[in-house]
Amino acid sequence: MYFTAHPEIRLSANQEKQYNNPYSVLLIIDISMLNIALFGPPGAGKGTQSEFLINKYKLFYISTGDLLRKEIANKTKLGQEAVSLMSAGQLVSDEIIVQIIENTITQNPQANGFLFDGFPRTYVQAYILQGLMIKLHTSLNLLISIHVPEELSVQRLLKRGESSGRLDDNDTVIRKRLVEYHEKTLPVLDFYRNQGIFHEVDGTKEVANVTSQISQLIDDELSKRLYNILLFGYPGSGRGQHGRALAQRFGLEYITTGKILETEIMRGSKIGKRVQAAYEQGQLVPDEVVVQIIEEKLENSKDVKGFIFKGFPRTLVQSYILDGLLQKHDTNISQILELEVPPLDLIIRLDERGKSGPYDNSTANIVKRLKEHELKTSPVIEKYRQNFDIVKINGLGPFEEVFERVAAEVEMGIKNKR
Ligand code: AMP
Repeated sequence: MYFTAHPEIRLSANQEKQYNNPYSVLLIIDISMLNIALFGPPGAGKGTQSEFLINKYKLFYISTGDLLRKEIANKTKLGQEAVSLMSAGQLVSDEIIVQIIENTITQNPQANGFLFDGFPRTYVQAYILQGLMIKLHTSLNLLISIHVPEELSVQRLLKRGESSGRLDDNDTVIRKRLVEYHEKTLPVLDFYRNQGIFHEVDGTKEVANVTSQISQLIDDELSKRLYNILLFGYPGSGRGQHGRALAQRFGLEYITTGKILETEIMRGSKIGKRVQAAYEQGQLVPDEVVVQIIEEKLENSKDVKGFIFKGFPRTLVQSYILDGLLQKHDTNISQILELEVPPLDLIIRLDERGKSGPYDNSTANIVKRLKEHELKTSPVIEKYRQNFDIVKINGLGPFEEVFERVAAEVEMGIKNKR
């Protein structure tokens, strides 16, 4: 089993083959990852800040400087190539950097995201990073520049040199490193300035203050992300009630296609007329209509923290539609829940409901609905099971009790996202 960068996404054997083949295009775009590059002159505090950030946001830390020093310590061929340049305060070649960084990234696809320190350090390396991100089906989310004036960098590095044991923390080499920074590294900012991911923080402040400036940027980025839940379960398992209650508790938009279609019929809208015609002829509502209503919902829902889908996707075709719709809106499925209720209890509940409503008013109808679910929707759940840890929840018991179980799972899911 191979894990993608998304902890919940496990690749099938076939996808695994594709994943290991750099020329194949694997259609899992992982927008749940958080990839950050810390930028700034030597002595800006990138290493110090990284220590805190990797713990708080559970990121995989990649410091090209550390990786190079390890190569040197291990006396590898790469290390031997790098050592003279590093001790002279010059940058090592992009070729060397690609080799060390590619190994590290591709060996850690299960990471929540990467924190880069000291990379990209040249304009070319900005392209290299872009390529590596594409290879991992993700992208760089933030480039945070820690701004400090040159004299402060020098002072800090000299101080560090008293105890760091680094060959390059002495006055002559520090000056050379700063020249390299100005000539080769600063142009990297031009690469990112217009991409909307570049941010600057004031690195002259004390460590905790800089940390909070950076955390604020990351939290803002994370809060833009939607938490999307698919809620599965047989008819009668309580999806509707729990879906609505979850939406309310977690600030999500509840999307239930059945209800939206009913509303369209009542409104007598153009879509409503098509739906009614389909219903009258006992046909399924065409997918193009379903796509349209969901697309409208996604577009018109502002200031929501995410969506909760019930009754959709109902078929394999619709599951592909949903993947496409979410991707179009730069988001993805965050969690899949399945309410479990034994068949006999489902029948008892549906029979009870049938007494007061237009549906489920005969045994034949109830059986038909349950069978329909088994035929069409079970394969959808199976499809997702290959890539997700679907959370099964015991749906038996009083509503409040079941809801607390459901809500606890969602709460944990949201927490684990980071
Ligand atoms: P750092 O630990 O980031 O201060 O890096 C120490 C030294 O490692 C630099 O002065 C360079 O010689 C080398 N180095 C680190 N990262 C890179 C990189 N991305 N590109 C080229 N050289 C690098």
